[in-house]
Amino acid sequence: MNRIAILLLFCGSVMAQAAPAYQAASEKDRQFAHDIFKQLIETNTSHSVGSVTAASQEMQKRLLDAGFPASDVVLMGPNDRKQNLIVRYRGNGLRKPILIVGHLDVVEAQLSDWTTDPFQFVEKDGYFYGRGTQDIKENDAILVANFIRLRQEGFQPDRDLILALTADEENGPDDGVAWLVKNHRELLDVDFVLNLDAGGVEMEHGKPLVVGVEATEKSYADYVLTITDRGGHSSLPHPDNPIFHLSAALERLEHSPFPYELNAVTREYFSSLSSHVSAADAAAIHAVLQVPPDPAGFETLSHDTYYNALLRTTCIPTRLWAGHANNALPQTASANVNCRILPGHSPEEVRRELIRIFADPKITVRYGNFAGQLSDRAPDEKSFSPPPPRSDVIAPIQRIAAQMWPGAPVISEMETGASDSVYTMAVGIPSYGVSGIAIDNDDIRAHGKDERLPVESFYRGLDFYYWYLKALSTPEAPK
Ligand SMILES: [Zn+2]
Repeated sequence: MNRIAILLLFCGSVMAQAAPAYQAASEKDRQFAHDIFKQLIETNTSHSVGSVTAASQEMQKRLLDAGFPASDVVLMGPNDRKQNLIVRYRGNGLRKPILIVGHLDVVEAQLSDWTTDPFQFVEKDGYFYGRGTQDIKENDAILVANFIRLRQEGFQPDRDLILALTADEENGPDDGVAWLVKNHRELLDVDFVLNLDAGGVEMEHGKPLVVGVEATEKSYADYVLTITDRGGHSSLPHPDNPIFHLSAALERLEHSPFPYELNAVTREYFSSLSSHVSAADAAAIHAVLQVPPDPAGFETLSHDTYYNALLRTTCIPTRLWAGHANNALPQTASANVNCRILPGHSPEEVRRELIRIFADPKITVRYGNFAGQLSDRAPDEKSFSPPPPRSDVIAPIQRIAAQMWPGAPVISEMETGASDSVYTMAVGIPSYGVSGIAIDNDDIRAHGKDERLPVESFYRGLDFYYWYLKALSTPEAPK
């Protein structure tokens, strides 16, 4: 996303500030959201010593206190520490429900690394500090606060709004979204999924540049190559040295990139990019958008690391292990190859392609799952190949963004990393990363020390989701 933002800086188009039709939340509503945010930050939900269940229970209590029926605010999960909270805001059933997912867990944080206590909610210099202020307790708090506010205002959505606050997105074996998909498929009978953990407003020195919407993402897979040999004394080398085999195979990988491929999301992304890039890049984009595409255009674009990642599955060695002594022939050599797979392809399909590229029957290629277990076959399920971004999801964002962040275009993107959307997309549900949180490009601190969020970004994000939820669930939403 940084790419387009930087380019847009040079567009220089200044749009007239439209009179804001969307009213900001009242001081009381802000304070209420602030208190929920503080409570979440001060509840440690890291995998090592924290408890997602504690945070789920706190949010459950707030929702019950606000009048949600107990049967619609439930905890569910695989064990005591990893209970997910599911709340259903009942609508009148005119349309299919929407599922909104946000993880409650946070990355580990050491007190000794931080300037403030990571599990204390500290406000200073215009920022909220604490672990999870960017990733993503701010959005969890925003959704809980807005569910309560909308209910207290008597708002009647025309569809159920389901919020799932979940465990183990960052770390730990009990990913809440994966668990729900497996054990509570009925919750997935929805029109689409909104993921709070992706998308958002990108800023440069406080100026909003792009409102990003994640419309699809690549999937993640590790493969472990292994080659073994009888070994022996290094003064008597024989052919079939595992390290030679391995390095030759990896060299073949370096020179055998996966084929170029566009999908509906990247196609739209590149076409919206073309008016903001250099003439040479615009010509290359034009070439790849033709049917059939001109391969020369792909070659030009792929020199850029980010474009390259958008245009193909990438597989890259990330770790090596070999040998056991300086004076011994290696008995084993291994490498981890990490792949980021385009939507529409399965991990097994990529494993077979790797075997073909390595072209060495002495090398085994095993799939490594998230728990680090290796298997001879990878999952066969192809991830969901995305349709074009839906206008009923995107148009309300455009309307709201035009007033909240005038001049910043709404751009649908493919995430080159991976989030919990991977599980919902895998079962065929369109999943969008949507967030009204604005963060400066040079102040991205998720997973890092002194994580913080501008105070104003939090309150504007609160307003964004208030209006967005209304727009998605009522025909009379402000236009
Ligand atoms: Zn996150």
